[in-house]
Amino acid sequence: PAPHRIQDRTKPDAAAIEAKLSALADGTADFENTPDTDPDLPGNRAWGRAIVQKMVGSTLGNDTIAAHTLATEDELNAVMDTAVAASAGWQEMGAAARAAILHRAGVTLEARRAELLEVMGSECGKTLDQGDPEVSEAIDFAHYYAQRGLELENVDGAVFVPSKVTVVTPPWNFPVAIPAGSALSALAAGSAVVIKPAGQAARSGAVMIEALWEAGVPRDVLQFIQLSEKGLGTELVSHPAVDRLILTGGYETAQLFRSFRKDLPMLAETSGKNAVIVTPNADLDLAAKDVALSAFGHAGQKCSAASLVIMVGSVAKSKRFHNQLVDAVNSLKIGYPQDPQTQMGPVIEPAQGKLLRGLTTLGSGEKWVLEPSKLDDSGKLWSPGIRSGVKRGSEFHLTEYFGPILGVMTAETLEEAIAMVNDIDYGLTSGLHSLDSDEMAHWLENIQAGNLYINRGITGAIVQRQPFGGWKKSAVGAGTKAGGPNYLVGMGSWKDAPITA
Ligand code: GLU
Repeated sequence: PAPHRIQDRTKPDAAAIEAKLSALADGTADFENTPDTDPDLPGNRAWGRAIVQKMVGSTLGNDTIAAHTLATEDELNAVMDTAVAASAGWQEMGAAARAAILHRAGVTLEARRAELLEVMGSECGKTLDQGDPEVSEAIDFAHYYAQRGLELENVDGAVFVPSKVTVVTPPWNFPVAIPAGSALSALAAGSAVVIKPAGQAARSGAVMIEALWEAGVPRDVLQFIQLSEKGLGTELVSHPAVDRLILTGGYETAQLFRSFRKDLPMLAETSGKNAVIVTPNADLDLAAKDVALSAFGHAGQKCSAASLVIMVGSVAKSKRFHNQLVDAVNSLKIGYPQDPQTQMGPVIEPAQGKLLRGLTTLGSGEKWVLEPSKLDDSGKLWSPGIRSGVKRGSEFHLTEYFGPILGVMTAETLEEAIAMVNDIDYGLTSGLHSLDSDEMAHWLENIQAGNLYINRGITGAIVQRQPFGGWKKSAVGAGTKAGGPNYLVGMGSWKDAPITA
């Protein structure tokens, strides 16, 4: 790698950081994705071990990681008043001044990488290898949206008018990158932001927000609040002062929020039920690895996770791929992130409802290839499950479970496999493993999903390179892809530029 991409986390290079910031500010540096931590550097291994040793909490889910108070109705109204009052100044400041602060936020987030990883591990059971790219993604959002904000000011004949107050309701599964990306996009466009971090990930959200404040985002321009989800949470999203909502969560939640205020512009990334198709022309070794990681990374708790693998033709008939996949999954080391060997961690809360059903019961004709077992009394630690015989149109085919369970389906042809994917109401991510270019072209043309991945895993979108956004029931409301060139356009509206003599 180029020298500037070698990241020794133990020796931050202050001079290089300042040089990068000024090059970004004067436009001489292009956007570049932030490198993840390189575990081959001995310093980084020691750095990582120290983080893991500091993690507390998740072993049996009993320790207190952080305490937060729920806001009262008066406090909620005060937060909204503050946001409204602060919005004009933030907008008038101009995109260049905002961009300087947001680029600085990339630096303060980087400086808190270890703290963010520790909190995500303690609070959400996120392992270091899953958390590290998430911090990089948050940093990428800061620099990328800072630059896109400048472009909104350089459009002939039209003036971009940002929303005044954007409310952000992120999920717990990406407790840093998603609130950061949502908030930074609105901030870059010139809107004030109120975030309600997910209750399960309140501290992770708070540390991220502290980094943005430290960078110079005024505290009244970016506020956060905790509310009881059913009571005042409803009032937050239906508050008359809100003029835009960015939500990542379930499809039903997005529908519910929409029902509160039908006129409210909303950008919502919602559920997914994602499949990887493996054809006889695939590199089966690669496919087995990618499916295993896409299905079981962060215990399957990603909207983007693989929940189905569809084996086509001879892939289904021979046992080779099947056995490779089962071996790959069976060898995953399950545990808590406090153990540096852990490859798959716990689920966020003791499994219940739909997830518990998915982990414990089979549909007709299905059988366990790997039966999930509960590994301790917490109800959160499960071994990964694989079921075969999933039938077209069955509950498992069509339902999102959001946990460590994968279903195997079989198809005679690629055509049939594509039809099985398109049966699903959601369309978030989708994967194809095939080295045949005709199959690739056919799949690309016909598959209904927002994010398409060929011969790689189907999680882990990357800012600028692989913007992220859903189709069908995986998105509600207008919006283009997060981390893509036009996302900020969704943060306001256009009016004609004043005619000057
Ligand atoms: N952007 C994430 C990915 O590409 C998924 C986000 C989500 O689960 O909501 O894996």
